Amino acid sequence: MKKPNILIIYTGGTIGMIKNDKGTLLPFTFENLLNYIPLLKNFPANIDSHSFEVLIDSSDADTEFLISLSQVIASNYEKYDGFVILHGSDTMAYTASALSFLLENLTKPVILTGSQLPIGLLRTDGRENIIAAIELACMQRDNKPVFQEVCIYFEDNLYRGNRTNKFSAENFDAFRSPNYPLLAHVGTEIKVFDENLYRNKIDFLIAHNELCNEIAIIKFFPGIQSKTIKAVSKIPELKGIILETYGSGNAPTNLEIVSILKSCIDKGIVVLNITQCTVGRVQQGKYATSAQLKEIGVVSGNDMTTEAAIAKMMFLLSKEFSQKEVSKLLTISLRGEIS
Ligand code: ASP
Repeated sequence: MKKPNILIIYTGGTIGMIKNDKGTLLPFTFENLLNYIPLLKNFPANIDSHSFEVLIDSSDADTEFLISLSQVIASNYEKYDGFVILHGSDTMAYTASALSFLLENLTKPVILTGSQLPIGLLRTDGRENIIAAIELACMQRDNKPVFQEVCIYFEDNLYRGNRTNKFSAENFDAFRSPNYPLLAHVGTEIKVFDENLYRNKIDFLIAHNELCNEIAIIKFFPGIQSKTIKAVSKIPELKGIILETYGSGNAPTNLEIVSILKSCIDKGIVVLNITQCTVGRVQQGKYATSAQLKEIGVVSGNDMTTEAAIAKMMFLLSKEFSQKEVSKLLTISLRGEIS
């Protein structure tokens, strides 16, 4: 069997950081990274690397970064069988979600990984994460990649990227996919859960080049004031609002709040309802406190993560869709982001 061609894309993050004199962690070069995993040179794959010129802590990821990352994959798509992205874990779930929308009809693996401890440390989780991510990216059946979607690999588990969130700032096991099962588990053997894998019917990559970040999130809390929501509604150029509501999509019945949201919708702003709960979904109308949102035209985000909701909104609002079309598409699974 021919050796698979894998492109490792290095963007920064803890995995490749070293401490400066003041003890602050700063990213260092990809060559240094390879020195810590010499095994990669003998891996049963042809491995190339692409390093971003400016290596970032993932907190500095912005829409420009997301688009250039997606373009690196798009411009190398034909040449490689799989892609492994080394990325900070802090915003990895956001990047994975954005890439899933930007790369339409993906039929090759794009696996993001990183680590909680820098690769230079003896107890680093980075070494195993990189090696397993490459091994997963190399997996083929009938000459086709086993994984054909944007994934996150962290501490033994392969997740659908747009279903994840970072849940621990200290455990090696830092990610969760609360509303979707694992794609694979890496132990002494690699167990692939075929029934959970995403498949595109069309094998023709369309790489999108735009994201619209004219959006805002409002997280409800007991005591939230209508003036806060009013201030958000007045943001110039605002095109979308994500409401992080309670439980199954519930929000205060305060008439002022509801009427501000209604005037936003009347003005053409798309308003999406996502639950603050990690597990479960929005069911507008289950309680009176969500029925009012449904009545004024708030869109139900079902069981989407906040990360996926942001990415999907930024993606849809960058297109020439009407408010009605965006609202409709938000409720339909485009990349396996909704159950
Ligand atoms: N602050 C780092 C980042 O997200 C943390 C990590 O890499 O895990 O870039």
